[in-house]
Amino acid sequence: MNPIVVAVDGPAGSGKSSVSIAAAQKLGYAFLDTGAAYRALTWLALERGVDPADGVAVVRLLAQFHYETVAGERGTVVRVGEEDVTEAIREPRVSAVVSDVARIPDVRLALNETFRRLIVATEAPGIVVEGRDITTVVAPDAPVRILLTASEEVRIARRRKDLPPAEAGTAGQLVERDRRDSRVVDFLTAAPGVTTLDSTDLDFDQTVDAVVDLVRERTAS
Ligand code: C5P
Repeated sequence: MNPIVVAVDGPAGSGKSSVSIAAAQKLGYAFLDTGAAYRALTWLALERGVDPADGVAVVRLLAQFHYETVAGERGTVVRVGEEDVTEAIREPRVSAVVSDVARIPDVRLALNETFRRLIVATEAPGIVVEGRDITTVVAPDAPVRILLTASEEVRIARRRKDLPPAEAGTAGQLVERDRRDSRVVDFLTAAPGVTTLDSTDLDFDQTVDAVVDLVRERTAS
């Protein structure tokens, strides 16, 4: 049986990942961070000296992109081939150019296939899938679709707290990244049927509870 899909989209720093992980844990669902795949492909391009904006070269790289995510005790481990890239994909050098990779249409098509395959292979009763186009492109028929937002100020402050002190100054980069990403997919306005959850004035637990409540409400039969 196909798992119940909870689709969560939103801008950078909205708390999507941490909220989705915690909500998935409470619900006993699996979790899929789609941004990690875009980051991992970007990491591979940088490793191989491929220009992330060179669509032809990046698409060629897809043939060597063996992407794997494994849920472990301490969160999800991301691997490209044999290499554990869980931390490397969060580096500012990756964040700075990931939008270039994400705007290549054939990359989006290929990664969407990967996501759909991972969703169907889920053994848990449900899966929380987070990204930018999950509610609209990857899983538009999901029974629960959420756009998680927060004011720009709050998003920058949250990101700053998550970064190591030496990188705190790069928190503002997310505004520019959102601007570039929103030219490719609109994740700033909710599509019809998508519930907007504004977490500006909510703390972490309140946001997680709001997601869990919505899932329980929508899936109650
Ligand atoms: O979610 P995160 O900020 O880690 O995503 C990294 C990048 O991956 C985004 O800035 C965006 O360019 C891309 N992305 C995307 N579509 C998704 C998820 C992420 O284009 N569904």
